[in-house]
Amino acid sequence: MDTEYIRLDGRNIDITLAHKAGATLRNGGTVAFPTETVYGLGANALDPDAVKKIFAAKGRPADNPLIVHVADASDVVPLVKEIPEPARLVMANFWPGPISIILQKSGLIPDIVSAGLPTVALRQPSHPVAAAIIRASGVPVAAPSANLSARPSPTCAQHVRQDLDGKIDMMVDGGICSVGLESTVLDLSGDVPAILRPGGVTPQMLRPLIGEVAHSLGKTDTDCAPKCPGMKYRHYSPKAQVCLVECGSGRAACVENISKEIARLCAESKREGKRVGVLTCAGEGSGAPADIFIACGETPGEYAANMFAALRQFDEQQADIIYAALPFDDEFSAAIRNRLYKAAGGRVVKV
Ligand code: AMP
Ligand code: MG
Repeated sequence: MDTEYIRLDGRNIDITLAHKAGATLRNGGTVAFPTETVYGLGANALDPDAVKKIFAAKGRPADNPLIVHVADASDVVPLVKEIPEPARLVMANFWPGPISIILQKSGLIPDIVSAGLPTVALRQPSHPVAAAIIRASGVPVAAPSANLSARPSPTCAQHVRQDLDGKIDMMVDGGICSVGLESTVLDLSGDVPAILRPGGVTPQMLRPLIGEVAHSLGKTDTDCAPKCPGMKYRHYSPKAQVCLVECGSGRAACVENISKEIARLCAESKREGKRVGVLTCAGEGSGAPADIFIACGETPGEYAANMFAALRQFDEQQADIIYAALPFDDEFSAAIRNRLYKAAGGRVVKV
């Protein structure tokens, strides 16, 4: 199939083009579009045949449920059994934005969307291009990240093209995603609110609003109780092996300790004949004998925004192993750590 490419500028949206993308969705096609978190691959959430195309294009296992995206918070009403008070509060305070909530689904949500679960994940994205396309479609839009399953999530149009060209009906280029990490997933379908996937909206931000929130810092897959089978899969992985190097003892000491450890690890890998990459934050390991250095940015926000693009760049430069420095230890970096742990398949060195 030929993928049709269009460009939409979030600051000045061409309504005719937004309607074209919306019509493709409404009529059962697949459209990749930017959101503030990562690019999504959308299809009409009420049409099981359309949703099937998402799973086929991505090679996504059928037991990994999708997040349903809406243009307005009120569009959630027919899709769920009820909206409990905590959900109302989260929607009022954090939507549109990078948090998905899980509620008991209504009969309108096909089983293929929820992977057979009785619940559905919902989000109202804030990206103006995503909002315009979903509104123009007139339907709720099921949209996982627009990457091949298990690959790093796409944060620019080029990443989507690399993975899905020729496999989807339409691709909307709307520039770079500002957050760069997938949404927080908050389960509000049970008695106690629980974070199933850490993201930009942290437990610290949620507690004043809805009280105690069950969560782990998301260090490993098994730390987060797998509420759905999809959580067990390897994720975000470049072709190279990833090894996370972290340190929890204050920023300055961390940079020095991590640098020493990365230099040692790089030397070891070079002796084994490997092509070595280093993912740095504040220049950790700059004297290390590595082949490729990529700096992700000095704040957790910058690091998150650049991380997936960096993992793809290491692939392009044919790294065999990547040492990733993570000198932060706050609640927001729990989301970064969660993705790197998964990319690393659990390989972590603590210094
Ligand atoms: P993606 O859109 O690729 O980031 O994947 C969506 C993720 O949201 C899934 O992998 C699940 O972890 C989570 N998710 C979606 N729907 C549900 C649900 N009904 N129950 C639990 N987790 C869900
Ligand atoms: Mg994904």
